[in-house]
Amino acid sequence: MSQVYDVLILGGGPAGLSMATTLARQAYTALILDSNVYRNARATHMHNVPGFDHVPPADFRAKVRSDLMARYKSVEFRDATTIVEVRQRQSTTSGCEFCNADGGNTSTALEFKNDVVENIMAQNGSSSTVAALADAKFEARDAHGNVFYGKKLGIATGVRDRLEEQVDGYAECWGRGM
Ligand SMILES: Cc1cc2nc3c(=O)[nH]c(=O)nc-3n(C[C@H](O)[C@H](O)[C@H](O)COP(=O)(O)OP(=O)(O)OC[C@H]3O[C@@H](n4cnc5c(N)ncnc54)[C@H](O)[C@@H]3O)c2cc1C
Repeated sequence: MSQVYDVLILGGGPAGLSMATTLARQAYTALILDSNVYRNARATHMHNVPGFDHVPPADFRAKVRSDLMARYKSVEFRDATTIVEVRQRQSTTSGCEFCNADGGNTSTALEFKNDVVENIMAQNGSSSTVAALADAKFEARDAHGNVFYGKKLGIATGVRDRLEEQVDGYAECWGRGM
């Protein structure tokens, strides 16, 4: 069933997990959408994080996840999920419109609501949650066309190192002593 989360969190690395931990403690619902391609994937151990010095980064992420799942039911995870489009409801002088994250208008509020209704109908044949979905301020769509709704959007997508733009041999050494 479609659900409106208090926060959609894009990215499940340390930043996204930290955000989720804070939200969970304050009883907000959150969905972590993570494509699981972490910047420090080449590193065998992480440092400078209190309590996790010289620990594999995957162990750190697993520990934070298990802590969250053990005590807070309000945080959910959706792995191997790459968000390819985010739309935000914005108020304008001519009404309420939805825009792409880059600011380009894509459709009217009415069109968005129709999308929502069709989505719910396709999933459970019921319109009982249509009213709740009216709270959605953000719509995130993954590469397979799945749609997620949130009142807020947390961006924890990290950065991508552009190793292909470096001198020959740089990429091979990255995370291996450099
Ligand atoms: C080789 C190396 C070693 C490092 N060692 C350390 C260290 O020892 N200690 C330290 O503090 N820092 C270290 N860093 C820095 C480290 O990468 C950052 O501290 C930390 O990983 C950043 O966390 P993050 O959550 O911002 O990003 P990430 O861990 O990269 O997580 C971002 C997540 O968002 C996902 N994502 C991106 N776009 C989308 C999308 N559109 N939809 C869904 N998901 C998406 C990514 O796939 C990824 O899973 C190291 C970095 C490198 C490169």
